[in-house]
Amino acid sequence: MAIILDGKKLSETINSEIAEEVKKLADSSKDVPGLAVIIVGDNPASKVYVASKKKACAKAGIFSLEVALDKNITQEKLIEEIQKLNNDDRINGILLQLPLPKHLDEHVALEAISPEKDVDGFHPTNVGKLYIGLDTFVPCTPKGVIEILKRYNISISGKNAVVVGRSNIVGKPVAALLMKENATVTIAHSKTQNLPDLVKNSDIVVSAIGKPYFIKGDWIKEGAVVIDVGINSVDDPSSPKGYKLVGDVEFEEASKRASYITPVPGGVGPMTIAMLLSNTLKAKLRK
Ligand code: NDP
Repeated sequence: MAIILDGKKLSETINSEIAEEVKKLADSSKDVPGLAVIIVGDNPASKVYVASKKKACAKAGIFSLEVALDKNITQEKLIEEIQKLNNDDRINGILLQLPLPKHLDEHVALEAISPEKDVDGFHPTNVGKLYIGLDTFVPCTPKGVIEILKRYNISISGKNAVVVGRSNIVGKPVAALLMKENATVTIAHSKTQNLPDLVKNSDIVVSAIGKPYFIKGDWIKEGAVVIDVGINSVDDPSSPKGYKLVGDVEFEEASKRASYITPVPGGVGPMTIAMLLSNTLKAKLRK
């Protein structure tokens, strides 16, 4: 049976390490790091994410500022708000909660964030730096994936890895990071023809698709490491809420073959916020 990669416990350890660093800054009369989270409109899921980011900041002693903007805000006004934060000395990190309402251009807005404050690592300058191997802000979820592997002493170098999903926020940066760690990386997506075979040949499987139970347990190679980034809601009449969260991978079956596996929830999810705090501290220390 696979060892469970406990992202919840690991993220608590990392969050307390960060809290200690922040306390050292405060004790030496320096400003604590500051994170601004911009939320446009009233998407309920976004509100939950923003609330949990604010809570994590408070726990770590990081100053946080929520900038809640009207769903009808113009592109120009949104850019103005971002520029205000670029010039605000209390703020080291700026995060624009996605998705934005349809009339706004996400790429233009992300590019308006100063690369020095881009703690989500989505600015094209930082994306480019990641690909050419320069120090940069690594996007939080991909950074969390690598951090789990490293903290559990799982070797990456020379391994065959498949990343299923090629989004800008998860799949592509995860693949870049695995390659940086010397894995041989295959990126799969919706047009990939032979996914079961690719997975069967992989020592490391990272799934970021967003489809419940899509990766079958019997595709997993004996002893492979499985990182399930997917978060999917499925009906569950036995739960008081009527639903439960599951990953992209058939967890029970895959656990019988894998050496290590992340659960959903409690795997990559909690690591994402820990990495946001880590990037915010990095932005402060880099100043
Ligand atoms: P996207 O929808 O942006 O990307 C999904 C990717 O999966 C696409 O590249 C798509 O391919 C690929 N895909 C879809 N269907 C198939 C298929 N049949 N076979 C192979 N590949 C397929 O999603 P995200 O990257 O934003 O998120 C992926 C999952 O990760 C979601 O469940 C999301 O909720 C979760 N997530 C979790 C986070 C966390 O833990 N904190 C953070 C971010 C995301 P194509 O490009 O060809 O369309």
